Amino acid sequence: MLVLAFLACGPAYALDKPLAACAARIMPGETALQVSANPARFDCRSRQNDLGAGNFAVELHFDPVAANVDDPLVLHSGSVWQDGETVRFRYADGVEESTDVSNQTTSQYLTLGAILEFPVPYRQAALTSILIETRGSANLRGVVIGPRLMSRSDAERSRLMFAATYSAFVGMALALLIYNLSLWRALRQKFQLHYSMMVAALIAYAFTSSGALLLVVPSMANNDRLRVNYIVLAFCALTGVRFVRTFFEREVREEWLRNAILIAGIAAMLSSLAFATLAPWHIGILDRIYFITMSALLVPIFLLLALAGHRRARHFPMFMLAWSAPIVITTLRAAYGFNLVPYSLWLDNGNLLAMAIEAMLSSLLVTARVREISLQRDHALAGEQSARELAAIDPLTGLLNRRSFIDQAIGLRSRQTFLLIDIDHFKVVNDRLGHEAGDRVLTAVVAAIDGCLPPRSLAVRLGGEEFGVLIPRALADKKCAERVLDAVRSAQMPQGANVTVSIGISEGQVSNEDDWKRLYRLADAALYRAKSDGRDRACKATDFRHAA
Ligand code: GH3
Ligand code: MG
Ligand code: MG
Repeated sequence: MLVLAFLACGPAYALDKPLAACAARIMPGETALQVSANPARFDCRSRQNDLGAGNFAVELHFDPVAANVDDPLVLHSGSVWQDGETVRFRYADGVEESTDVSNQTTSQYLTLGAILEFPVPYRQAALTSILIETRGSANLRGVVIGPRLMSRSDAERSRLMFAATYSAFVGMALALLIYNLSLWRALRQKFQLHYSMMVAALIAYAFTSSGALLLVVPSMANNDRLRVNYIVLAFCALTGVRFVRTFFEREVREEWLRNAILIAGIAAMLSSLAFATLAPWHIGILDRIYFITMSALLVPIFLLLALAGHRRARHFPMFMLAWSAPIVITTLRAAYGFNLVPYSLWLDNGNLLAMAIEAMLSSLLVTARVREISLQRDHALAGEQSARELAAIDPLTGLLNRRSFIDQAIGLRSRQTFLLIDIDHFKVVNDRLGHEAGDRVLTAVVAAIDGCLPPRSLAVRLGGEEFGVLIPRALADKKCAERVLDAVRSAQMPQGANVTVSIGISEGQVSNEDDWKRLYRLADAALYRAKSDGRDRACKATDFRHAA
């Protein structure tokens, strides 16, 4: 949508070609009108920025245009660093109308896209030429850049498209920011934070570079907006680089690269701060240093991506795709900064478009990485869970061990019946059949017990050949212990061995450790009686009240 909106911005401009501009320096003591009287002084061929900083008269030439009273003309030109300008519109009837703007009043004329829009006063006579007198022009990229004449309705249409483009961008960026910040709260990965910072910096950059800042703070001088813009763009670049570095932290750990990014980042920030605080003092040099440090930031990015590619880092191709747009546009802007390529509106606003593409594609990368991390976590959690389960279970019988049984039993709300089951003369079984067969007897006894238990019972191997079963009182009928005795008696045992068990029964709450100890003690006493009464039987504890 963003790209479409941006493309749609094109035609409004494509219809009107930029006007031919010829510039002449105004010497001290001269007026623009005096300079304008001498056409030979105007240079129409050299690039304006070869002329350096100062005061200039710029003549815009075009075939005379007759305006429509219902849809008058407007003049557009890119916003630049200057103290102010006077625009003189000249008509076929010899009349001249002028508009004056200072650095402080620029907000009245600045529209979205950081474009200065001057209404051309309507006259019946055709407009024949325009003379712009600029004062204190830094002439970094030209004195008057991208001047165009168009009808007010065309200008409104282009403004609408800019508004749509910026809102689409800011809307998307805000959504990405909120989404990634909430993800960061959950996962706390450094690269998520850097990504969010990058997106926040981009929103700030959209705000300052589009001129929206002056719409919100109309009293702000346009040059001050440009100062802020320099800082914000450097910050965007810095957060972008840090995002790439933290994203590939596992694959690219080189200390020297980390230092290179730190140094390049500090240099870019310092040069932006120097521009913001010192301009217009040596503004040309400060601007050049800024471009050099910003271009230098590309070097560690190239190195980082090269290393990541070489090490076959995951998501590398997608990263290349995401970053190709800003890399190309920054390279072009750097080239433009060195006057290697001409000014274009695309270049001026392409920055934002490129970063928007980058932010969108990177959000897919962030999502992919977050998915990877959550899968790793799931895996680790599952491992931990199964380790915990293994530690809680007796490996021979598959029953709970004493500790985990007690953990699970304590706090059970309902009254419980407890069976303490001990195999009779197991020592003899072991002696006769061997330890291994003894083990098989143990598992066979457990299987037999298990078959008699109602649901929600908890069974435990308390040690050796002694087992416990907790049955909710409401589910435990009087025959429970009898069924266990029968099941063991009739179970198939190794080598046809005859195996029986004795059972002690107690009843009560298990709300705490003491309850449990009491329940066990009573069952143990009952078991002792069952053993001494001849084994292969169940005995109830005589005093349930003590266990309650
Ligand atoms: P009683 O009827 O009085 O309970 O006699 P008992 O022989 O069953 O009791 P005792 O406590 O004297 O012997 C328990 C035996 O259980 C001793 C020990 O070698 C055996 N035992 C304990 N754990 C295991 C095990 O995991 N596997 C095997 N095969 N034997 C075990
Ligand atoms: Mg025994
Ligand atoms: Mg025993």
